[in-house]
Amino acid sequence: MSNNKLQAAILVVSETASRDHSTDRCIPVLRDVFDGIGNGQWEVAFTEIVPDSVLDIQKSIQSWADCQKPLNLIVTSGGTGFATKDVTPEAVSPLLDRHAPGLVHGMLASSYSVTPFALMARPVAGVRKKTLVLTLPGSPKGAKENLESVLKLLPHACIQAAGAESRPLHAGGVKKLEADAGVSSGGMGEVPGGEHSHHHSHPRHDHSHGHGGHSAPRAHTKQEDRPQSNDPSAGPARRYRSSPYPMLAVIDALNLISENTPEPVVQKVPVDLDLSGAVLAKDVKAAESVPAFRASIVDGYAVKMPHSGRFAGGVYPVALVSHAQPGTVKELKEGEVARITTGAPLPPGADAVVMVEDTVLKRQTEDGEEEKEVEILTGKIQAGENVREVGSDVNEGDTILKKGEGITVVGGEFGLLASVGTSEVSVYRRPVIGVLSTGDEIIPHDKRGPLRLGEVRDTNRPTLLTAVRSHIFEAVDLGIVSDKPGALEQTLRDAFRKVDVIITSGGVSMGELDLLKPTIERSLGGTIHFGRVNMKPGKPTTFATVPLKDDSGKRITKSIFSLPGNPASAVVCFHVFVLPSLHQQAGIRPVGLPKVKVVLDEDVRMDRQRPEYHRAFVAAKDDGLLYASSTGGQRSSRIGSFKRANALLVMPARDGSMKKGERVDALLMGKLGELAR
Ligand code: AMP
Ligand code: MG
Repeated sequence: MSNNKLQAAILVVSETASRDHSTDRCIPVLRDVFDGIGNGQWEVAFTEIVPDSVLDIQKSIQSWADCQKPLNLIVTSGGTGFATKDVTPEAVSPLLDRHAPGLVHGMLASSYSVTPFALMARPVAGVRKKTLVLTLPGSPKGAKENLESVLKLLPHACIQAAGAESRPLHAGGVKKLEADAGVSSGGMGEVPGGEHSHHHSHPRHDHSHGHGGHSAPRAHTKQEDRPQSNDPSAGPARRYRSSPYPMLAVIDALNLISENTPEPVVQKVPVDLDLSGAVLAKDVKAAESVPAFRASIVDGYAVKMPHSGRFAGGVYPVALVSHAQPGTVKELKEGEVARITTGAPLPPGADAVVMVEDTVLKRQTEDGEEEKEVEILTGKIQAGENVREVGSDVNEGDTILKKGEGITVVGGEFGLLASVGTSEVSVYRRPVIGVLSTGDEIIPHDKRGPLRLGEVRDTNRPTLLTAVRSHIFEAVDLGIVSDKPGALEQTLRDAFRKVDVIITSGGVSMGELDLLKPTIERSLGGTIHFGRVNMKPGKPTTFATVPLKDDSGKRITKSIFSLPGNPASAVVCFHVFVLPSLHQQAGIRPVGLPKVKVVLDEDVRMDRQRPEYHRAFVAAKDDGLLYASSTGGQRSSRIGSFKRANALLVMPARDGSMKKGERVDALLMGKLGELAR
């Protein structure tokens, strides 16, 4: 920095202003904001005006952020709307190494308090290398209001982004930060101008409606105050002694998973046996009719109606034979009949088929091989009788399957696609899942011979691989990794080249060897969305996303579910947390296990503090109701509680037991049982 001020640039994105700089009004307005409420901390070092062009926008930003002396802040103005020419977010997003959705929320919330149309903007914010980038609206008024709403918070972020140590910055806590920035904890709605915001006019902001606090979402903790994982190099004496992660309710954890699960990806695939389990991303129209020809639905004799329209019974020569096989069939003349089999094409000229049961053989050929004449015993036959008309099952052009519908393992949908010759469909790509066990004590389950003291056979990997595959997802065995930081990081990095989702087990509790959270946060630059859930078993369940690039260099995120090491916990958490996310990524709806009400067949104890997922066997009885019985000891280490279990009873947190006969929710994991009668 040339002086002590923070260096900013204003980039106006406007077709008109880029042609005639004199028409721009944003730069002077934004300069005023920096000078006015910037506490003398800012210097606007550069301004530039470019047209709505991704390349031009990116060139400017990169010239300011990727150089030797990067700027602290770049604000753009314009091009964030929904018009097709608006490309600023598309230009900026790929340049950001780290997104700052909080700033986006803050800006939107502040303009939303002026007009709901504020939501019609698509701002992005984040850090490129050492530079914070914000996209403001194109109107001078909107740009001004947006910048005002966040500017006071930015010095802190910019200093951190530029690489300052955060510890000294945070000495004194949030209160000091707020005092330094001249803001209060009332949410960002109060930020513009602090207490002196009279000059900041919000024409439609009517305080008399009691919406005083409505303008901004309010978080109760600030990002910098939120926990970071243990620093593994600090050693056991310096580790956290209680989990620094807030304890979330299961529903909140599920919401976070849903919000952070990558969007389903659409792909074209051939119609083959691998299609089972897929969900269609586009409607499918029939390219052909079924049947494709007029076909007989019985074995019998095709007949031609006389002009009178009334077919008379009597003896007829068998002039032709039509089998259910490809080929041409000769024309049937009036006064003749054709022997025909079920599914065979009607000869041209034929109008109806008489069932073989309504006929008797009159004469056969000399060699006794073929029929020469038959007697038709009925005169009541109608045109079209026993004939399946072209397209009577499916008409060419009909929509046979809709977007969002699944190809089930029952087979009906595949059958339908097959029947009309569909060779390719668009489906949501099913994520590939890697399963990894962690722990120095874990050995392959099939290791021969007695265990050494401390060794534990890997129970989680085989169980989780089975569970994943049972839901028709491809599961990749990632093996066992030791509790050494480098090993875990390398294994996760390698795994993400092959898989979309990683499930790990172990290493998420409080022990000093619990490396998952620090490795995800510190080594992989991931975000831990939660690290503790109020449930039993499964309290330390952790969900994180990691930023990565795909083969084409596009920025993507992938998820890691770090499940507890205890086998029963790991399996419960797979069903409760991982499966819904896999479903969402594969376009399957509704997500997760089906939930049903069951009647308890015995008393079941509850946990006083945490809702419990109790392993149970659910079966139908003669009365048509579903009954549940416990599979026994529910200790989280006891995988045996999963033997025979086909359901998880969702037991509320309460003292005592739920009684036999009471109803409770159950998540169905497997096929319903049937109780002996
Ligand atoms: P951790 O979360 O790593 O502290 O593990 C908690 C408990 O689960 C410990 O007793 C581990 O030995 C056990 N455990 C962890 N991973 C596995 C596994 N893959 N199979 C069986 N037990 C495990
Ligand atoms: Mg461990």
